[in-house]
Amino acid sequence: ARKPLFRRVAVIGLGLIGGSLALAAKRSGLVGEVLAADRSDEELALGVELGVIDGYGTVSEIVAGADLVVIAVPVRATVAVLQALQPHLAPTAILTDVGSTKGSFVKAVQEVFGDLGPRVIPGHPIAGSEKSGVRAARGDLFEDHKVILTPPDNVDEAALEQLARLWTACGATVLTMEVNRHDEVLAATSHLPHLIAFSLVDTLAGEDQNMEIFRYAAGGFRDFTRIAASDPVMWHDIFLSNREAVLRVIDHFTEDLAGLRQAIEAQDGAALLRVFTRARAARNHFS
Ligand code: NAD
Repeated sequence: ARKPLFRRVAVIGLGLIGGSLALAAKRSGLVGEVLAADRSDEELALGVELGVIDGYGTVSEIVAGADLVVIAVPVRATVAVLQALQPHLAPTAILTDVGSTKGSFVKAVQEVFGDLGPRVIPGHPIAGSEKSGVRAARGDLFEDHKVILTPPDNVDEAALEQLARLWTACGATVLTMEVNRHDEVLAATSHLPHLIAFSLVDTLAGEDQNMEIFRYAAGGFRDFTRIAASDPVMWHDIFLSNREAVLRVIDHFTEDLAGLRQAIEAQDGAALLRVFTRARAARNHFS
């Protein structure tokens, strides 16, 4: 038989993203076995039952003998996971993650390992949903989606290529980016929109104690309620981990929102038209 790209993939945190990667990796035919560890035994048993993983164990059991280790827990749980896996990680193994913030992962690795080894390659698939848990895992979750890797300057190029090959086989397009750039871009395109959704839905729910208003949730507002149904723990972790970049973009947004408020108050139609026309034109930049 052909030598697999990775003989053993160890996934720590078998939820939506860890489970989806496990499924996609198995389907790719490029990996020998996929084992998982999770603080929830139920998720692990379910993972085997659903055919998402080949087996499970403790962090030390699955990391020993793994040539690829993927951390897929909420970002603020990363330090604890790194501490648990460090004594068992093979020197040749590739260590990556799927967390939504990358500066925090680098900091966690530095805290536990001292520095970033050449085979520590932070990652973030720009795919997912408001669902969580292994039951929501899908083998095609990453198809036609981007995966951002933020390799360190001293990265082992062969390791980077190996990891990129796995993601590509999962249907993703891989791009590399600087850690800070990643966190700024995601603060703007993902974190702020989620914050606005949480805030808007909470405001409206507070205005209408009977939640009558949600009966009329259609079109625009419906999308906000879907986004606001995202996992609270995962998102509280993201905002606390990407604090500076998020604060910058919140301030910018708050200022612009106040500008719109001002234009409405002053019945300045021209100002409103200017903003709306610019925003509409910006959409044409999507491909
Ligand atoms: P999830 O809730 O579906 O899965 C997380 C899993 O981690 C759970 O099974 C939980 O039991 C386990 N876990 C939590 N703390 C742990 C610990 N200390 N030790 C071991 N296991 C632990 O969440 P998810 O959506 O799969 O998110 C996982 C990671 O992926 C997060 O860092 C998130 O930022 C990132 N991410 C999520 C999305 C998304 O849309 N959901 C997209 C891209 C990246």
